[in-house]
Amino acid sequence: MNISTILDMAAEAFGDRTAVIAGDSRLTYAELRQKAHAAARVLRDSDAKYLALLDVNSPAAPIAVFAAAYAGIPYVPINYRLTRDEINELVERVAPALLIANEETRARLDARADVQVMSREAFLALPVDDSAEPPQPDEDPRAVAVQLFTSGTTGKPKAAILRHENLMSYIVGTVEFACAEEDDAVLVSVPPYHVAGISAVLSSTYACRRMVQIENFDAASWIESAEREQVSNAFVVPTMLSRIVEHLGESGSASRLPKLRSLAYGGGKMPQTTIVSAMRLFPAVDFTNAYGLTETSSTIAVLGPDDHRAAASSEDADVQRRLISVGRATGAVEIEIRDDDGRAVPPNTAGLVYVRGGQVSGEYLQQGSLLDGEGWFSTRDRGWLDVEGYLFLDGRADDVIVRGGENISPGEIEDVLLGHPAVADAAVVAVPDEQWGEGVGAAVVLKPDARASAQELQELVKTRLRSSRVPQTIVFRDALPYNETGKVLRRVIRQEFGKP
Ligand code: ATP
Repeated sequence: MNISTILDMAAEAFGDRTAVIAGDSRLTYAELRQKAHAAARVLRDSDAKYLALLDVNSPAAPIAVFAAAYAGIPYVPINYRLTRDEINELVERVAPALLIANEETRARLDARADVQVMSREAFLALPVDDSAEPPQPDEDPRAVAVQLFTSGTTGKPKAAILRHENLMSYIVGTVEFACAEEDDAVLVSVPPYHVAGISAVLSSTYACRRMVQIENFDAASWIESAEREQVSNAFVVPTMLSRIVEHLGESGSASRLPKLRSLAYGGGKMPQTTIVSAMRLFPAVDFTNAYGLTETSSTIAVLGPDDHRAAASSEDADVQRRLISVGRATGAVEIEIRDDDGRAVPPNTAGLVYVRGGQVSGEYLQQGSLLDGEGWFSTRDRGWLDVEGYLFLDGRADDVIVRGGENISPGEIEDVLLGHPAVADAAVVAVPDEQWGEGVGAAVVLKPDARASAQELQELVKTRLRSSRVPQTIVFRDALPYNETGKVLRRVIRQEFGKP
């Protein structure tokens, strides 16, 4: 029940296999474990209560995940894309700590006596000592393995706590144990500070795959790395998939990636047009939509390859529609929809998505556990289940616009706006309204050289939806603000409209 056992298993059974590839550097599973042991010894001899990482993807990330586990302290990866003040605020919350930084991120840190900063190079070069006793990991399954700051899509980042038992429950319950297959390589382009980055390290090690790291995503280097390292599996967020599809579309075909077998995606809503194009581009690839949260140790529902194929080939509208669902609860969790009073609702009725299972921590630093008495956690996502248990998401409760007591979901208005041939992207948010408290505002990006007036878009919404849904204000932008995991930052757009 300690995540370090995953690395022990891989190192003992397949020590010579490559574990991590980053550019020209490679580590085998035996070397990964040696380095994690070396770092754990340094941590045990220090006053550090946390091991923090402020760096892009590099071998330091998997080493740090396991080193902290061997040393019995939480691992805390920090988002290097935040502002200097935001970074230092988070660092303050993890002191006393040992913090690994690269040259660029180090320059953005305020000096503190209680945070020892170590360069990535020094961390990677810590001397290994095979003759020393391996560090004995904490036996307590409730010890904290990872502390992750949520993406801060809906507000300030929250410090979610993931215990060893949560992560082990996720890995053992959800990830395929594929150690027998020697030729598997997984491409990791998600940042190390996101739950998908943690999941990538743990699931790749559990499956004894080669983890091919990309420092920062761009479509050209993703394709190039996938081709060079003969990648078989990858996880991408929706914006990454759309850029890969665009790039490959422009430069010929997907035949450059003959080994690619499985593409999983998630982290945010996937536009239907993108997944349809991706399936056409990669007809032999297995697609999986994975829905999860930081607080649930990642994936809780999956739309698998068979569901994708069935949706693409079926004549049945209910089956076709499942392509825009996030699939069904994994075997490791239960999912339920409840109304605003917390009562479970029948299929095809919208409400709040609740989840329960060993991987669900639902716990934040200083705030304690948000699980109810029976272990259920509210994801704060809105959605419904169809009769066969497929989950359809309908935006986040915190993004719902409350106009004079009426709840309006931005998603339905965005779908109408996106249906206009001139519209490339759209986000709908609450705007201040004297009469109704909140009103509807939309930020719209037009396709290059396309034209559409605010009035024309308002007319379009009026023909499709109730009049309360018609945006009273529409602004045109060159691009919408997205975070690196593909979520549109409505909080930023709301501020532009003058709503805190
Ligand atoms: P914060 O809680 O600080 O606002 P965040 O919730 O965005 O940050 P994450 O834990 O990274 O931080 O995101 C989880 C959310 O991402 C889910 O609640 C859901 O809204 C969205 N999401 C994740 N996977 C999918 C998916 N496959 N399809 C659609 N939405 C998804």
